[in-house]
Amino acid sequence: MTYNLHINGEAVACDEHIDIFNPATDELLGACPMASRAQLDSAVAAAAQAYKTWSKTSDEERKNACHAMGQVLEDNSEELAKLLTQEQGKPLNGVGSRFELGGCVGWTHFTADLELPVEVIQDNEEGRVELHRKPLGVVGSITPWNWPLMIAIWHIIPAIRSGNTVVIKPSPYTPLSSLRMIELLSSVLPKGVLNIVSGADELGKMMSEHTGIQKIVFTGSCATGGKIMASAAPTLKRLTLELGGNDAGIVLPDVDAKAIAEGLFWGAFINSGQTCAALKRLYVHADVYDDVCTHLTAFAKNMPMGNGLDEANVLGPIQNAMQYSKVEELVEDAVANGARVLLGANPTKGKGYFYPTTILADCTDDMRIVAEEQFGPALPILKYTDIDDVIARANNVDVGLGGSVWSNDISKAKEIASRMECGSVWINKHGMIQPNVPFGGVKGSGIGVEFGVEGLKEYTTIQAIFA
Ligand code: NAD
Repeated sequence: MTYNLHINGEAVACDEHIDIFNPATDELLGACPMASRAQLDSAVAAAAQAYKTWSKTSDEERKNACHAMGQVLEDNSEELAKLLTQEQGKPLNGVGSRFELGGCVGWTHFTADLELPVEVIQDNEEGRVELHRKPLGVVGSITPWNWPLMIAIWHIIPAIRSGNTVVIKPSPYTPLSSLRMIELLSSVLPKGVLNIVSGADELGKMMSEHTGIQKIVFTGSCATGGKIMASAAPTLKRLTLELGGNDAGIVLPDVDAKAIAEGLFWGAFINSGQTCAALKRLYVHADVYDDVCTHLTAFAKNMPMGNGLDEANVLGPIQNAMQYSKVEELVEDAVANGARVLLGANPTKGKGYFYPTTILADCTDDMRIVAEEQFGPALPILKYTDIDDVIARANNVDVGLGGSVWSNDISKAKEIASRMECGSVWINKHGMIQPNVPFGGVKGSGIGVEFGVEGLKEYTTIQAIFA
């Protein structure tokens, strides 16, 4: 099937296409249109034209439009989930495509109901000062391949809710589900409010440089985040950058290893590890080290992996060859440097990018799989004895997205959490994001936050009115 761009409420065909394959079967799924520079310009022009009226619409109108988009997502969620499974690889079942679509629906309705009322910061005999929140203009959204639809929704809905218009560019690895979702969503919006252009990385660079775009919201790797910041500098664009992480989990000696195994597993292996805020390094106290290794491995080995269209599977393949090779290389490096394989490694070559659920014990901080973001189904476990030392080890990376502490002593866990250098810390769970809680990274994990009122504010600028 051939997909189209969607510009100014209309399907727009391209001269060039790239083939998109199912990562579970290697079968051809569809052809992705490759937008030209002129097509990007026309999408930006359509969004700029639509902005003139959309930015003047009432709060009520925008709220209703967002709820209408939520309804469209709900009505089409099974179709979109199936396409997402075939394109991204994640199973329909488990924490997979249906879960992702459910998140899209929930986030959309929640964000629709957020408000940014005028704030009165002074009202006395010296005068009244009000802070008004105004939209920015055309927002350029650039998305990755791991949670393509949910991340697109995280960008689009707050932008539109606050009066901006949008041009979105999906990842060239997973463009088809976004092209279809935007086609559906834009049918309930005025022409030009939501536009999609697909293409190679170069198209994202053109967006970052574009004089007609006022803000870039980007989710993806740290390296690309830096490039976008540089390309956006000459036009002083507003930026929200949600970048990579290398989340540490710290397990204290008082835990019941069997009771936490399931939480640790899903913290690390959600979406086969291809999740920004997944547990990527697990530090376990020596007193419970063997128990945690045993119970986590016992839990993990029963989790079925395979083609996501089969309802029995809860884990899917890695999305692409580039990421598969990276995971393979990092596991091989760790094993060569003394890591003990508790589960997995040694993939069998066959159809699809299936890499077995892999758990490695006796890892050290200098191994590449610990120091770098593996972004796949392989978890390194490290032993510790001293809490101050392990906090320093957890913090000794240049990123800081999430982290977790596992303990029965909640006040002690909270004290340790406060010493971790990351944007979110979970206790006895990992990666549980919510639409009402701001989410973002510190250090190299990004700039700004998404979700909740704090996230919505990032799509606005302040105007102070002195009366
Ligand atoms: P990526 O940076 O390779 O690509 C992301 C998007 O950027 C794609 O659409 C790509 O085409 C585009 N792009 C590439 N080069 C560009 C350039 N020079 N200018 C503008 N756009 C450009 O990331 P990915 O491999 O798709 O995603 C995986 C990464 O994303 C991981 O590091 C992961 O941790 C991170 N991530 C972060 C979050 C978060 O919320 N912090 C969420 C999901 C993923």
